[in-house]
Amino acid sequence: MTKLQPQASHFIAGVYTEDTQGDPLPVIYPATGQVIAELHQATPAIIEQAISSAQTAQVEWAAMSGTERGRILRRAADIIRDRNQDLSVLETYDTGKPLSETLVADATSGADALEYFGGLAASLTGEHIQLGQDWVYTRREPLGVCVGIGAWNYPTQIACWKAAPALACGNAMIFKPSEVTPLGALKIAEILCQAGLPAGLFNVLQGGGSVGAAMIADARIDKVSLTGSVPTGRKVYAAAAQGLKHVTMELGGKSPLIIFEDADLENAVSGAILANFYSSGQVCSNGTRVFVQNGIKDRFLTRLTERLHDCVIGDPQDMATTFGPMTSETQLQITLDYIAKGRAEGARLIHGGNRLDQKGFYIEPTVFADVTDDMTIARDEIFGPVMAVLDFQTEDDVIARANATDFGLSAGVFTRDLTRAHRVIGQIQAGTCFINSYNDAPVEAPFGGMKLSGVGRENSKEAINHYSQLKSVYVRMGDVEAPY
Ligand code: NDP
Repeated sequence: MTKLQPQASHFIAGVYTEDTQGDPLPVIYPATGQVIAELHQATPAIIEQAISSAQTAQVEWAAMSGTERGRILRRAADIIRDRNQDLSVLETYDTGKPLSETLVADATSGADALEYFGGLAASLTGEHIQLGQDWVYTRREPLGVCVGIGAWNYPTQIACWKAAPALACGNAMIFKPSEVTPLGALKIAEILCQAGLPAGLFNVLQGGGSVGAAMIADARIDKVSLTGSVPTGRKVYAAAAQGLKHVTMELGGKSPLIIFEDADLENAVSGAILANFYSSGQVCSNGTRVFVQNGIKDRFLTRLTERLHDCVIGDPQDMATTFGPMTSETQLQITLDYIAKGRAEGARLIHGGNRLDQKGFYIEPTVFADVTDDMTIARDEIFGPVMAVLDFQTEDDVIARANATDFGLSAGVFTRDLTRAHRVIGQIQAGTCFINSYNDAPVEAPFGGMKLSGVGRENSKEAINHYSQLKSVYVRMGDVEAPY
């Protein structure tokens, strides 16, 4: 327990910083429900320290060469990989996700982002446009001080996915983790510092939505990048609009996973499991509407339920565990309420559906069959381990039904007919899609949503456009002709 208590709640200007005047912020271990650390929410004084130190530090950072900036980010990536075991154990305490997952999907994914954007930093250039003897050149310049606001499902990964492109482009970042999972981002701040990042460039503040809102309202903040739900996205986008600030919005989804009759059955079942039960279902891009073509439905449901019996629910710190608790009691209750709605509206429960009779926020992986498009569990983002299996007959029908949602984050197709795979994916309204796979998120690929699921993209070269701006400079080589 003591090792989980950080030196202080916030990390500002290169040091742990505390203000005990802030409201208490207990950190709860989802596997036991016990308090494992006690922090304080940021006060106005703490927010002021974070913004002013970031503003000062950003000017010098932007003046450094991309090579120098990139070297620091890549060094941080190496340190993260060296410390992956400890960081993963901490992430498991923060989120409840099994160590078997956090060892491969959290700090390592953060290291990938720092390595990738560290590598890109030196090649961020403008262009030269010749206009007769005159010419224009463009400069790719940073935005200034960026605010990152994170969800609680991937706290370490989200901190790195936002910090890496921001810092590579010469910005400062102030990151506010979800108040539910505040620990991981502090370690990333420590490591960036150890790697040589000048003080003030990556500050971490704790607190709830009001801390995020206070930062967005400050005129010194140039951009906000949010990972969160659609209702929060609307509020944050509206607040940012007051200052016409840049935004990236990574929001929720209710994504379709379409399984055609000719799909490889075992791969399709594996895809559906990854699309619904990884991180106990708390993944934004999950394919929670599983459309299964009639001819394969019975075999699919049989193999799915057989394989779910091999799921090991238990102590997330035990490497044998493959399914951990929900991250919070609130999210557990939300999920149980949706399961009750699924039953009440006539969906057929074929697996799970219950809270485990033990301490911690455990719930069984749950599958409903015979789900119809109008049912609540087929329309709302649940953000828990609840798979809705829907039947379909024709390709045209399933495309129309898959698109009949306001969300547009992800989509997947399983089929052996590659022509059909590309034809179907081409018509699906979603930003991050998969063919014969699900939920891969390599840093090299753009990640983000269409429709209500988001604005902008994270990862890949595309993220550079969201953390920098172009200045164009016209250069006249001859005399200036004025009318008078
Ligand atoms: P929330 O929208 O509840 O919160 C997200 C973050 O925003 C939290 O840090 C929260 O603070 C903060 N916040 C809340 N209100 C405001 C406000 N008015 N101004 C500024 N900040 C605010 O999301 P959850 O944390 O519950 O995460 C789950 C959601 O995130 C799901 O919808 C999921 O789909 C989405 N998500 C999207 C991803 C993507 O990349 N597209 C990836 C992961 C999750 P606090 O909670 O501390 O009060």
